[in-house]
Amino acid sequence: MLRGLQRLGVSRSASPGKYFPQYKRYASAGLPEFTKDRYSHVKRGNFATLDQNHLNFFRDLLGENRVLTDPSDCQAHNVDWIRNVRGYSQCVLKPRTTKEVSQILAFCNSRRLAVCPQGGNTGLVGGSVPVFDEVVLHTALMNKIISIDNVLGVLVCEAGCVLENLENYLADNGLMMPLDLGAKGSCHIGGNVSTNAGGLRLLRYGNLHGSVLGLEAVKADGEVLDLLSTLKKDNTGFHLKHLFIGSEGTLGVVTKVAIQCPPKPRAVNVSFLGLESFEKVLETFQLAKRELGEILSSFELIDALSLDVVTGYHGMKSPLDDYPFYVLVETQGSNEVHDEGKMSKFLEKALESGVVKDGTVTNEDSKMKAIWALRERITDGLLLDGYVFKYDLSLPIKEFYGIVTEFRNRIGKDAVRICGYGHVGDGNIHLNISV
Ligand SMILES: Cc1cc2nc3c(=O)[nH]c(=O)nc-3n(C[C@H](O)[C@H](O)[C@H](O)COP(=O)(O)OP(=O)(O)OC[C@H]3O[C@@H](n4cnc5c(N)ncnc54)[C@H](O)[C@@H]3O)c2cc1C
Repeated sequence: MLRGLQRLGVSRSASPGKYFPQYKRYASAGLPEFTKDRYSHVKRGNFATLDQNHLNFFRDLLGENRVLTDPSDCQAHNVDWIRNVRGYSQCVLKPRTTKEVSQILAFCNSRRLAVCPQGGNTGLVGGSVPVFDEVVLHTALMNKIISIDNVLGVLVCEAGCVLENLENYLADNGLMMPLDLGAKGSCHIGGNVSTNAGGLRLLRYGNLHGSVLGLEAVKADGEVLDLLSTLKKDNTGFHLKHLFIGSEGTLGVVTKVAIQCPPKPRAVNVSFLGLESFEKVLETFQLAKRELGEILSSFELIDALSLDVVTGYHGMKSPLDDYPFYVLVETQGSNEVHDEGKMSKFLEKALESGVVKDGTVTNEDSKMKAIWALRERITDGLLLDGYVFKYDLSLPIKEFYGIVTEFRNRIGKDAVRICGYGHVGDGNIHLNISV
């Protein structure tokens, strides 16, 4: 029995936009300044400038339709997701095969043409778009699933597969991707590997160094590296794949990925809790680890000013009254009765001890999605604040939220909003400063 808990839909909702900033500015309304102008001290390297001979080679290789040169077609590839930086590439290439990637890179290398690999262009640090006029190598057409091993749960696919498409494909096979993030509808698995993306369930399924079993990559000179092992245990020699995980295109282009996929959980529960201090958040995290054990799959923090973004800008309803902190706790397991029992016990203890002030829990799909949206839509909502400085920080857990307080003390009213949300389980906070 979940004493003191309000079931979703029964509780009063918090007044939307209580902390809504007075001044709204829309950074996304126009194009950002060229990166070369904003950071004029960064100088273009000694690279060649694209000419007609280069374009002729690309068109002979890929055909007219897979070589974009029209400025309006290139624009989306020159501007990043948060519309913060902007390059001026005049050529976007869309290879379909590893061989084409290899031929493009060998050619560019021999002609000293700079290349910017690009996946879903959801990276938040400007790495996915050219700084100057680099040729963009876009992996969107490398989107085939190569094989699936249902017994071992191993998926092999091309780098341009969109994460959400893989998730849907695996669901039909009783499996799931070991990572999930708010950008899943656009980001590519090749981009995920190249950024060593963490996401919402790293706490449970670990990082990509553990789940990527192998990969194929093409070096800048066109050499293809076949590191596409599908073995869970492979202790032969060096494991070059780890260098590519998180290398952000600096070592070459990832073209294929073999990844370990866990079984799709049959029982999922999500609770959303209100707390009065960050110390209580840490106490709740310890309690969750103790009580939920192996089924704990996510433990996400949202502070009041972050929740205000989604209630204010997106008009979403919070199921709880106002608190300084909220946490989203998710379990994934294989037995509904067992998992619900554990979640109930955890919530009872959290409420009875006063560590958690209020909460709601559900296992209904639509309601779980609604709660997850409160967390996942913060990132895009923040863009409506104006210019946002975004920091993605991994910190010792005790300092996790202190960084937000420190910035508030130092910057004070000069910022429109200073807020923090993120993955408590990984010590990874998203600090955002809107000005
Ligand atoms: C709403 C939202 C939520 C997010 N949440 C998270 C999160 O929880 N955790 C997290 O880690 N990130 C998160 N991100 C950031 C981003 O989604 C990830 O970094 C993602 O992995 C990038 O994938 P992408 O395909 O969009 O890559 P891109 O943005 O296109 O590229 C990112 C970098 O990888 C390089 N690259 C891309 N593809 C290749 C390739 N095939 N070979 C070599 N280099 C390549 C690019 O050159 C660039 O340097 C989030 C972003 C958004 C918008």
